Amino acid sequence: SALYNVDGWGAPYFFVNDAGDIAVRPHGAATLPGQEIDLAKVVAKAAGPRASGGLGLPLPLLVRFPDVLRHRVEALNAAFDYAVRSTGYGGRYQGVYPVKCNQDRHVVEDIVEFGEPFRFGLEAGSKPELLLAMSCLAARGNPDALLICNGYKDDDYVSLALMARTMGLNTVIVLEQVEELDIVVEASRRLGVRPVVGMRAKLRTKHAGHFGATSGEKGKFGLNAAQILSVVSKLKVLGMLDCLQLLHFHIGSQIPTTALLCDGVGEAAQIYCELARLGAAMSVIDVGGGLGIDYDGTHSAQTDMSVAYSLEEYAAAVVAAVGRVCDRKGVAHPIICSESGRALVSHHSVLVFEAFSASAPGLIDPATGYILDELTDECRADYRNLMAAAVRGDFETCALYADQLKRRCAEQFNEGVLGLEHLAAVDGLCEIVARAMGAAEPPRTYHINLSVFTSLPDIWAIGQMFPIIPIQRLGERPAVDGVLSDLTCDSDGKVQHFIGGRHSLPLHELPVHGTRGYYLGMFLGGAYQEALGGLHNLFGGPSVVRVSQSDGPHCFAVTRAAAGPSCADVLRAMQHEPEVMFQVLKQRADGATAAALARAFGAMPYLSFDPEAASMASGDSSCMSSDSEG
Ligand code: PLP
Repeated sequence: SALYNVDGWGAPYFFVNDAGDIAVRPHGAATLPGQEIDLAKVVAKAAGPRASGGLGLPLPLLVRFPDVLRHRVEALNAAFDYAVRSTGYGGRYQGVYPVKCNQDRHVVEDIVEFGEPFRFGLEAGSKPELLLAMSCLAARGNPDALLICNGYKDDDYVSLALMARTMGLNTVIVLEQVEELDIVVEASRRLGVRPVVGMRAKLRTKHAGHFGATSGEKGKFGLNAAQILSVVSKLKVLGMLDCLQLLHFHIGSQIPTTALLCDGVGEAAQIYCELARLGAAMSVIDVGGGLGIDYDGTHSAQTDMSVAYSLEEYAAAVVAAVGRVCDRKGVAHPIICSESGRALVSHHSVLVFEAFSASAPGLIDPATGYILDELTDECRADYRNLMAAAVRGDFETCALYADQLKRRCAEQFNEGVLGLEHLAAVDGLCEIVARAMGAAEPPRTYHINLSVFTSLPDIWAIGQMFPIIPIQRLGERPAVDGVLSDLTCDSDGKVQHFIGGRHSLPLHELPVHGTRGYYLGMFLGGAYQEALGGLHNLFGGPSVVRVSQSDGPHCFAVTRAAAGPSCADVLRAMQHEPEVMFQVLKQRADGATAAALARAFGAMPYLSFDPEAASMASGDSSCMSSDSEG
């Protein structure tokens, strides 16, 4: 546990249990003894063979814990509620979940359902996001819940948001650009719907971390002081100043400190008060996202991987900053909205994958050592000098001759003088000598059955680090340092930077050859990763299970399970037509081959081909027997 700092980044949800497995406290600190869920048991249930009661799902596996999601929603609301009550703040907190963080249907539905008692709403940044937010709030949302419409807007987007108001949804159209005002005014006239409008302010407060590119005067989004004033005067002329009710800003994700947060909130609160003074019917200040996650468990503001505050401290800082400015200006305390995404969904899922093989640099086989005698005279001289330096314990000279020998051999190999065996023998020899001289063993490469591009895109794209650790054998000291290499044929498909500034991960020896089952988990990846991932090499996404705490013997119940996309599914995403591809190939195949092909494609609902029947008809006994075993 200490080796991977599980208590640092995992509390209160993840810990190492007595069996040495990662276990989940589904209700955070309120989890009762006996309610903890052993992750290895979940994997055994989900991926285990059907014959022994498993669900037979292929890995990688995304395990969602809706109870954790509920706990996050409740904890966020409780933190703000406490800050409001303890300071006598005159308004209330009413947050929204920015669906861009994870648009998965069940995640959004859960948040809306769990947030209903708190009037919790949604934020959308595009038309499809708006549609899903509308239907979800209409089905199960609190009638007061806000539906914040951010992002670039055309007439269709704005019309949709206005129509949502006629359906009783509390949509607020947040202007990100001055030009959007004309679109809103025109659409509201045409549809006869009075809009509720917000403005996104471009603050001067700048967040210096990676995620701060959205902030500061040169930030991509929002209105500057002059643009804010021009919107106010246009609305005034149109007799619509009462429509302007909300001020929004977002200084970037992973805000590192409450000091920076207070600067941003204070600046925005001043603008809010100015808008009230200018006659707008202001009622909501929306502080955007930015509530951070402690990915490395250091609780420090030194890197983007951590933040130096808790949920409670964040809420207290926001409430205090808004209250202070409004009191000074004599403006009524507004409703405080936040668009916290990362902080709500990061903890709720764990991606489990398998390390199925490990490769170390090839060492020289003693039986092939004679090959060194076949080197050219120059190389043999280097070899002798290298060995002599090694015997003297002169590491520097040793390294010098090793480099020279390897370079010379490579040149001679390219000229065709030496063979591949010579090259391998020299590499292996140099490796042995380096180790004998005390050089650190290079990390072993563990191959993992997923695509970094599909499942861990931020690792590849922005150098993000997530806690990645074995989910079992944590009572056993790991003997190997490893890096992770994925299944894609792309050299970027690697994980070689880990939390704690490590360039390798302490790992255990894999189970003996031929047996499987060394599972690793990536934690805190519930935000952004699922929608950002791509189909590089056409690797599809993971299987997904939804696991709730239950009072049964294993403390959990799998309430939903879905296999990841089939080959046919990912091919369709690239405009291929698996049914047609299959028909073309089938013409060249006998019955058993066609059946095997159909299974390789996976589900093809538009095709009337029964792989079982085809393999039976062909009388292929190996196929039939494997079917009957399965
Ligand atoms: N609101 C807006 C406008 C955003 O751009 C973002 C994401 O960057 C968020 C909210 C969510 O931020 P976070 O995930 O840091 O809470």
